[in-house]
Amino acid sequence: MDTRVVKKKLGLKERYAAMTRGLHWETTYQPMDKVFPYDKYEGIVVHDWDKWEDPFRLTMDAYWKYQGEKEKKLYAVIEAFAQNHGELGVTDARYINALKLFIQGVTPLEYYAHRGFAHAGRQFTGAGARVAAQMQAVDELRHFQTETHAISHYNKYYNGLHNANHWFDNVWYLSVPKSFFEDAYTGGPFEFLTAVSFSFEYVLTNLLFVPFMSGAAHNGDLSTVTFGFSAQSDESRHMTLGIECIKFMLEQDPQNVPIVQRWMDKWFWRGYRLLTLVAMMQDYMLPKRVMSWKEAWEMYAEANGGALFADLARYGIRKPKGWDQACEGKDHISHQAWATFYQYGHAAAFHTWIPSKDEMDWLSSKYPDTFDRYYRPRLEHWARQAEGKEGRWYNQILPMLCQVCQVPMLFTEHGDPTQIAFRETTYHGMKYHFCSDHCCEIFEHEPKKYSQAWLPVHQIYQGACYPEDINPASPGDSPVREVMRYYGIHGGEDNGEFSTSEDRQHFRSWSGRMKPQGHQE
Ligand code: FE
Ligand code: ZN
Repeated sequence: MDTRVVKKKLGLKERYAAMTRGLHWETTYQPMDKVFPYDKYEGIVVHDWDKWEDPFRLTMDAYWKYQGEKEKKLYAVIEAFAQNHGELGVTDARYINALKLFIQGVTPLEYYAHRGFAHAGRQFTGAGARVAAQMQAVDELRHFQTETHAISHYNKYYNGLHNANHWFDNVWYLSVPKSFFEDAYTGGPFEFLTAVSFSFEYVLTNLLFVPFMSGAAHNGDLSTVTFGFSAQSDESRHMTLGIECIKFMLEQDPQNVPIVQRWMDKWFWRGYRLLTLVAMMQDYMLPKRVMSWKEAWEMYAEANGGALFADLARYGIRKPKGWDQACEGKDHISHQAWATFYQYGHAAAFHTWIPSKDEMDWLSSKYPDTFDRYYRPRLEHWARQAEGKEGRWYNQILPMLCQVCQVPMLFTEHGDPTQIAFRETTYHGMKYHFCSDHCCEIFEHEPKKYSQAWLPVHQIYQGACYPEDINPASPGDSPVREVMRYYGIHGGEDNGEFSTSEDRQHFRSWSGRMKPQGHQE
């Protein structure tokens, strides 16, 4: 007969302690340092892990219950969206290209974050940090799944959504997000948290999620808005992990301050470069604009970030290096990036186009100091070319990539937007190229790591990105076309000019059928 256990109801605080820190024990068969070898080698000194605060006090059982309810609502919306042909309710088919960029470049990062947090969670000696990291690992796996499910509906109707995982591992512009995360999770656990939880989630995440999600709302995409809300409601926990980790390191020992500062410098810049893709999406790819990249930068980076670094000054922390360049960049990077993607529109897995006259006027009003002066004339030139006998301009020369951020060398000098910025350094007799002083400095601090970078353009020139039936030494009359074949990108279907695309034609004829009374594209 079973012994009757008298259940004593635990209070919230006791229950939390029992279900998290109460599960921690000191190992005896092996020394703790051998079981947790990675939380010391970065040089971070920890005197007392109990000083780690967990403001959310969430236990696993409560987590499942709460997330389960959220998920049920989300899937009900996705279902209704599919049944009501939500794919035709968006402003126009150009909008789908923002979703392509999302599923290609952002969703795989969720999976990387899942792996990274699971790994970091295993490495911390302190139970508080371990539990928070493990819970976030589960969140990130959910994000990957819900985003994949929500966007998969569009894959039934539009091009450019069918091969995202393979693209993520191979295609030039996707090596930007990929290398960002691989860089982060091949660091130690404290660097990983500084990179992802602090620099990315705490300082920069609003610049990723707000434009995409309010962009989705403005452009009639309810299913994206809903997964955005679902992911965003985990975000406060993630941001807290980021700031808690930073404060914990800074308070544990003054020796940690310079290490943390260097990580902030590095990861602010890495994150900022990654957001170039978002800046472009926001200013050029949303048919209905929400706010300009510049406005978003001013609101979320300059105002919020400025206050944050003022607060951290008491620990001896200053603003990240590169802050001023990033603030100057708010006037330029979206235009520079779109111009690059337009030229390489035959080598990406989404469509590009010249903005309409109204859209250019909007850009002029949002960028009074730069758009008309530097960027509008080039777009108008390309528009004339596309209409004339030269035809739509595609650049056949592959661009040089920055060895660290892996963005093509498209950024200009601080203070001179007419000069492409270019830095180089030599390591073991080889030359390496960079988009900026900051990427160069990141390389010079860890040359062993970054000299191994898998740069897509180098790989193409080395013959590593051709289909098997091609001789890499003589890949035929159009090497780029063969690379597209290797990528699994269908030239002209998944990419190229939007105005002549299947996506556009389909959207027009399908919505014509749905809305017979003169629906405007
Ligand atoms: Fe996430
Ligand atoms: Zn760079």
